Amino acid sequence: MPGYERWSDLERKELNDVLDNGVLMRYGFDGMRKGHWKSKELEAAICSTFGCQYAQLTSSGTAALTTALSVLGIGYGDEVITPAFTFVASFEAVLSVGAVPVLVDVDDTLTLNPDAVRKAITPKTKAIMPVHMCGSMADMDALVAICKEHNLILLEDACQSIGGSYKGKQLGTIGDAGTFSFDYVKTMTCAEGGVVMTNREDVYIKSDGYTDHGHDHLGVDRGADLHPFIGYNFRISELHSAVGLAQIKRLPEFLADQKKNHAALKNILSQIPEISFRRIPDPEGDSCSFLCWFLPTEAITKAVVAELKAQGILPGNFYWFDNNWHYIRKWDHLKNAITLNALSPEIKSRLMEHANKDFSASDAVMSRCICTLISLSWTDAQLKEKGEKIIAVVKQVLSKQATTV
Ligand SMILES: *Cc1c(COP(=O)(O)O)cnc(C)c1O
Repeated sequence: MPGYERWSDLERKELNDVLDNGVLMRYGFDGMRKGHWKSKELEAAICSTFGCQYAQLTSSGTAALTTALSVLGIGYGDEVITPAFTFVASFEAVLSVGAVPVLVDVDDTLTLNPDAVRKAITPKTKAIMPVHMCGSMADMDALVAICKEHNLILLEDACQSIGGSYKGKQLGTIGDAGTFSFDYVKTMTCAEGGVVMTNREDVYIKSDGYTDHGHDHLGVDRGADLHPFIGYNFRISELHSAVGLAQIKRLPEFLADQKKNHAALKNILSQIPEISFRRIPDPEGDSCSFLCWFLPTEAITKAVVAELKAQGILPGNFYWFDNNWHYIRKWDHLKNAITLNALSPEIKSRLMEHANKDFSASDAVMSRCICTLISLSWTDAQLKEKGEKIIAVVKQVLSKQATTV
């Protein structure tokens, strides 16, 4: 996944353009900037690369989600359905606009289970927020149909699936809005940054204002801009956009290497019949940032993880079931509604409901799943060695299992 593995003269050149004149802010200072508008250029590149009409850069992926939720009118009294397997940023963003995150089960796609979504819909549901986790996509036909049927907003958290697609459309451009993160570990990086993508002009115009204190950006004098609504500061800087501008030009190369390495690793792991792979709703559209694979039981998976760790080869192989940041099992702060400032009593009690919800369907999937991060920098020899070490561990655990049963 990580664009940080590839740092080049292209990133340095774009950064030096900005350093030359010292205009580090994306707005204003027209006379000083010698024609450098890195953020505007990156937004245009995002629109043409991913096939959306509008793009608004933000200071992070979390800020992009918060912006999208807010400009889509989601807030007090609303529920947003989102998966129990994601990064904490997804529910943080929902809370930050004063709405209630309703976490539901994932299935063997590692994304929202459409049946679980249907069951969670109430009169208060305002939006469905699928998360295209680990490079691959949710079942978008099913989710689009549910949104149409119930008149719900569809917001895609595509932060982890830059370059993935579903039936020919880029992930993040299918719903009312979609977001990417350009933080340091994502497929392409700005160091920190994010984007709201949309084909709705109203969503774009509001995002443009919301991320800059409500500025309408209609005049040439910032100080004289009007403020049609209250906004925040979620601006990206020109330095960050400069890095992103170099990275987006290199994205085809990153994705090609990712796909090549993913296919080679999958080929090696496929030698073991007990290993199965994540279901991909549109296999053509997998961005291949991770290879996610299943073992037959939780006990076998735990034994494999323990042995990978003992042999020092666990790094890069993620067992999300035991992870503090990506799966509900370890989110005690959410289940106990531990915040630094007071929450409304309603949101607090709705959050705490998650402690008693049944996530056994997700547990059954996540407890058997290991996701291997696909590195861009592996040599063929390193990749082969990595794959063979993994299958040696799996074989060792399976044979032990066979003799103890
Ligand atoms: C990285 C990520 C985010 C948040 O992005 P930041 O830029 O780190 O704020 C949101 N959702 C998912 C699924 C992510 O992986």
